[in-house]
Amino acid sequence: MYYNEETVIFFNGQFIKAKDASANLYSQSLHYGNGVFEGIRAYNTTEGARVFKSYEHYKRLKFGAEVMNIQLNYSEEELTQITYELLERNGLKDAYIRPLVTTGVDMSLLTSKETNLVIQCWEWGKYMGDKLLRVKTSSFQRPNPKSCFVEAKVTGHYTNSILSTNEAKNNGYDEALLLDMNGNVAECSGANVFMEKDGKLYTPPRGHIMAGITRATVMDLCKEEGISVEEKHFTLEELKNADACFFTGTAAEVVGLQSLDDYQFPLAWEKSHGHKLMKLYKDEVLGLCQKRKAS
Ligand code: PMP
Repeated sequence: MYYNEETVIFFNGQFIKAKDASANLYSQSLHYGNGVFEGIRAYNTTEGARVFKSYEHYKRLKFGAEVMNIQLNYSEEELTQITYELLERNGLKDAYIRPLVTTGVDMSLLTSKETNLVIQCWEWGKYMGDKLLRVKTSSFQRPNPKSCFVEAKVTGHYTNSILSTNEAKNNGYDEALLLDMNGNVAECSGANVFMEKDGKLYTPPRGHIMAGITRATVMDLCKEEGISVEEKHFTLEELKNADACFFTGTAAEVVGLQSLDDYQFPLAWEKSHGHKLMKLYKDEVLGLCQKRKAS
């Protein structure tokens, strides 16, 4: 599904076939989860493949590497150029792109000086599908921001996402919603959350969440469209009193919720701000918004 005999990856400065690449089983990333990654999408637009917000994604990758003391000697521009070449070599225009920076062989708990950079890409539909989601409140919290850099996409952090997703799916739900250490709503296992109440949108502020690039894009779209949006902490009780709710993320894009535990969101999805933003987001990634604004 992710690669075949012909798939090309970028690995430590070279474009090689995925089937010819190998990784070291003594890698610190494998043993301790010390690595950083990104999730980026490219879209097939009228002007060819367009990597959406490439600079922002690579800036976050570099931030993650920096806080984990991992050497990554590429600029955002170089990484973007490599990504476009990788798409071309794989003949892909609509694609999900996964850069991953791993650390070398070192069993101490000091970041290894050896760094490997791999960039992979594959065709991937909307990660959470097109249907409205049935979501379960997780028994797991998001990590305490004093225990790690929550805004860094560190591989090891994702065991928290795996625990909560396993729990939700094993109980017959589609996705998990996690609270923060203070009991406020934080985010989904791999997406940010917005709620609609009385015509206004609310989303948790930064601090306990991933600073989602899709979240920022959606907030910009709200400004342009005159939709009121406020960053504010809210509780599970408040969310279970909301009119509608949606998740945002690069892989998930904008996706609505049908229910949270036993609570059904009462506003029809088609009448909610989330639905409008889902369509505007699609135009934005395809570059259609700029065209509309220019004409
Ligand atoms: N929260 C978490 C925990 C995530 O892993 C992601 C995906 N990076 C997001 C939110 C959404 O971020 P983005 O919109 O930048 O993809």
